[in-house]
Amino acid sequence: MKRIHLIYTGGTFGMVPMRPGRTLAPGDLSQIISKYLPEIHGIADITTEVLFNLDSCDIHLPHWTKLADCIAAGMDEYDGFVVVHGTDAMVYTATALSFMLNNLPKPVIFTGSQRPISLLRSDARNNLINAVELACYPVPEVGILFSNFLFRANRTIKMSSILFDAFASPNYDPLAEIGLEIVLKGNHRRNEGFFHVEHTFDDRVLVIKLFPGLKPDYLEFLLDTDIRAFIIEGFGLGNVPSGEKSLVPFVRRAAEHGKIIVITSQVPHGYVDLERYAGGLSILEAGAISAYDQTFPSAIVKLMFLLGHLTDKGAVIRSFQTPIAGEMTVRKQSEPEQGQ
Ligand code: ASP
Repeated sequence: MKRIHLIYTGGTFGMVPMRPGRTLAPGDLSQIISKYLPEIHGIADITTEVLFNLDSCDIHLPHWTKLADCIAAGMDEYDGFVVVHGTDAMVYTATALSFMLNNLPKPVIFTGSQRPISLLRSDARNNLINAVELACYPVPEVGILFSNFLFRANRTIKMSSILFDAFASPNYDPLAEIGLEIVLKGNHRRNEGFFHVEHTFDDRVLVIKLFPGLKPDYLEFLLDTDIRAFIIEGFGLGNVPSGEKSLVPFVRRAAEHGKIIVITSQVPHGYVDLERYAGGLSILEAGAISAYDQTFPSAIVKLMFLLGHLTDKGAVIRSFQTPIAGEMTVRKQSEPEQGQ
């Protein structure tokens, strides 16, 4: 029997109703599992650990480190890991771990649920059962198991706060599909080399979400802060205004101040191509770079990760545009390709 370590970090999964009907508060995992899903011990030899018990909105950089260290400490002992996590910020934590756990040799499967396990009509049981099963498979990736799919974590977005199909991977096929059988799609990573954890992040980053009419003047004061990198969430293929409310002067000055400017898109499916329209081209010439087909969570986490490791701006830009954990598609000429 495979040995699977189940790490609990909080979220709706184990929450219990505080008053009839509505507000949910954290509950105790091991008791919850023995009460609501004791059969899970038939799938694998499971050990549990409550690392913290938080709504995922409160999980950030120090918690990522704690979780990565916990997984690394058990790497020799266990065949796989399941992380139970709140759904709201799950993709950020899971994506961070995909960068931190270098040459990961075993599966690390994140899951959670939209309704607590204590409720009869809940997605928690299915998700946990499938996550534990998948942690027994040879998929050495940080994945997100939700509903009927296993997704690559750093390709995943949360797309519904109400449906049981809460997650999607708009630019990369699922790693596995769960139906009558569990079908691995064969597109998972195959890691070789020395496993190690890389911790450092630098959170001196800021996101600017574009909307029609955004006043570029409001952004000027940001140039005199210690922010090292901006993400501008543009329209469509990464377009930004270059006419009356042009962002180009701001981007040019930010680049002159030594700051990095990454362009992502507000559209989840597709990629950023700054050479397709005049607005994109002028911002590219002003010094911005493209996030290609990376999700927004992946772009922001990767940026913080690279800034934590590299001081040279050019080195950060080069690394940002190179895949490190399958988070973006390697593009040849002007066409995107599926791939690592
Ligand atoms: N607020 C919860 C959390 O992210 C939502 C969930 O788990 O679904 O922790």
